[in-house]
Amino acid sequence: MTTSRTVLVTGGNRGIGYAIAERMNADGHRVAVTARSGEGPEGSLTVRADMTDAASIDAAFAEIEAQLGAVEVVVANAGITKDTLLLRMTEEEFTSVIDTNLTGTFRVVKRAAKGLLKGRFGRVILISSVVGLYGSPGQINYSSSKAALVGFARSLTRELGARNITANVIAPGFIETDMTAALPEEQQKQYLSNIPANRFGQVAEIAGAASFLAGDDAAYISGAVIPVDGGLGMGH
Ligand code: NDP
Repeated sequence: MTTSRTVLVTGGNRGIGYAIAERMNADGHRVAVTARSGEGPEGSLTVRADMTDAASIDAAFAEIEAQLGAVEVVVANAGITKDTLLLRMTEEEFTSVIDTNLTGTFRVVKRAAKGLLKGRFGRVILISSVVGLYGSPGQINYSSSKAALVGFARSLTRELGARNITANVIAPGFIETDMTAALPEEQQKQYLSNIPANRFGQVAEIAGAASFLAGDDAAYISGAVIPVDGGLGMGH
C-alpha cells in the first residue's frame, strides 16, 4: 500500500486521463481531474479548467485545495493534435498545439509548484508521446510539444530535485483512444507493423506507469522518460 496523496490529472474526462484518474482512485489517493466538459471517474472531484487559460487553472487549483488539500501529484495529461504536413501547417496549427500541450503543462506545473515546495513532497508526471523522440510525419507541431516535455522534466528535476520533488515523463506509444481513432486507417496499419508487441496499447497500461511514478517505490526516479509503447520507440 502506497502513501495516500492528493492527485490532479488534467484532461481526466476521457481517454488516458480518465484511466489514470480511475487507477489513482483505486490506489487510495484523493483524486481531482480537470475537464472542459464531462466528468472524471466516480470518486474523483471534477473541476473546470482550460489548459490555455491560466486564470481557469488557478481557479481549479483553488477549488481542489479547498476540497481535497494541496496537490501533491500532478499528472499533466491534457493534449491535442492538429496533424498536417509542414508545408501545409499554418502558424495557428503550430502554436495552438504548443499552447495546449507545452505551455499548458507549464501553467499547471507552475501553479502546483508552490504547494509542492511547501509540502516538501511532489511528483510531477508529464504525458509525452513516443513521437516526441521518434518523430512522425505530419506531426511537427505535436512532436515538438512532446519532445519539449523531456527538457521540461529534466530542468525541473535539476531545479527542485533536492526538495523531495520528482519529475518524470511517460511516453505512450499508440494507445486506443479517441485521439488515435481519428488517425487514417492506413496510418494505423503502418504503426501496427512497426510495433514489436504487434498490438496497440490500452489506457490502463499508461495508468499503471503513472500509478508507479506516483507511488512510494518511485521516490528515487526523476528526469526519466518511461516508454509504454510495446517497443515502438526502442532506442529513442
Ligand atoms: P483524448 O483526445 O482522448 O483526450 C484528450 C484530453 O485532453 C481530453 O480530456 C481533453 O478535454 C483534454 N484537453 C485537450 N485540450 C484541452 C485544453 N485546452 N484544456 C483542457 N483540457 C484539454 O486523448 P488521449 O487520452 O489519447 O491522450 C491523452 C494524452 O496522452 C495527450 O497528451 C496525448 O498527447 C497523449 N498521448 C496519447 C497517445 C494515444 O495513442 N492515445 C499516444 C501518446 C501520447 P476535452 O474532452 O474537453 O476535449
